[in-house]
Amino acid sequence: MTRLAVVVPCYNEAAVLPDTARRLLTVLADLRARGKADEGSALYFVDDGSSDGTWQIVEALAAKERRVQGIKLSRNCGHQNALLAGLFSASGDAVITIDADLQDDPEAISGMLDAYHGGADVVYGVRRCRTADSFFKRFSAEGYYWLLERLGVEIIFNHADFRLLSRRAIDALKGYDERNIFLRGVVPRLGFNSAMVHYDRTERPAGETKYPLGKMVAFALEGVTSFSAAPLRAITLVGFVVSLLSFAGGLWALWERLVNHEGVPGWASTLVPMFFLGGVQLLSLGVIGEYVAKTYIESKRRPRYVVEGQIGSGFGGSGDKF
Ligand code: UDP
Ligand code: MG
Repeated sequence: MTRLAVVVPCYNEAAVLPDTARRLLTVLADLRARGKADEGSALYFVDDGSSDGTWQIVEALAAKERRVQGIKLSRNCGHQNALLAGLFSASGDAVITIDADLQDDPEAISGMLDAYHGGADVVYGVRRCRTADSFFKRFSAEGYYWLLERLGVEIIFNHADFRLLSRRAIDALKGYDERNIFLRGVVPRLGFNSAMVHYDRTERPAGETKYPLGKMVAFALEGVTSFSAAPLRAITLVGFVVSLLSFAGGLWALWERLVNHEGVPGWASTLVPMFFLGGVQLLSLGVIGEYVAKTYIESKRRPRYVVEGQIGSGFGGSGDKF
């Protein structure tokens, strides 16, 4: 029988946590009753440096129910690192990661486990529709998936971080040692047999999103720069085209001056390309800067997260490599 761990990253989720725990414990009890998951199956909450008493709630839940376990990170390390902390410390044959706000449907867990029993090492939770999201979020998400696909990044459409990973897949994931990990791009690279389970994403019942616009943009950039050097190549291409155009423009100016004996007309034709080129150059420097910064951050090899405390058995407890 399968020992299942359900990892729930939580950053200031006190408002939803008791409900979430109740729902997920019901799902686990049901899976046990149906013989799909074994007695040791548990919930693993990862407190990602919350300041609203999230950890106290986890402790209180754990005192009442031994199937509630958790780790507390020493500060806010970010969603992706909180997921890694849970994946690497929870023990189980299979680990499912799910958001604390229950926007991902816990009922889909049973289907994920079926796919795992059917031989899949990776099971993706895929949103059937995105009507619960705002127009902006839907529109930007569609555009983003399109862009990633164009850049050759393998990514599952409408899949976020609701997924099942087998022990084998988690071990393979340990080889991806980058500091700023983008799991949606890394997991499809692991290979193995995979499957998809569709579900409807609902609205956040309480609390507010931990992904405001700025964080969302940073996360989106991370996805591009972690997997593709295409923006760097695009700069070369733009540089090439612009140089070619300026060369043609130069020839034309010479022709006007020497053959037609006309002065090069007005300052607009001088200033416009100057500003344009200035813009292109700054943008290019910015893009190169992104990659340089990334190399710098990776080269420091700082820990991705630090574990401050834990509840329950089954943890490696060592956190990440130092
Ligand atoms: N989260 C986290 N650390 C962070 C930000 C978010 O652990 O720094 C967790 C959060 O508690 C939630 C999940 O990541 O369980 C997804 O966040 P949220 O629901 O706010 O994102 P959205 O659904 O709005 O994209
Ligand atoms: Mg959410």
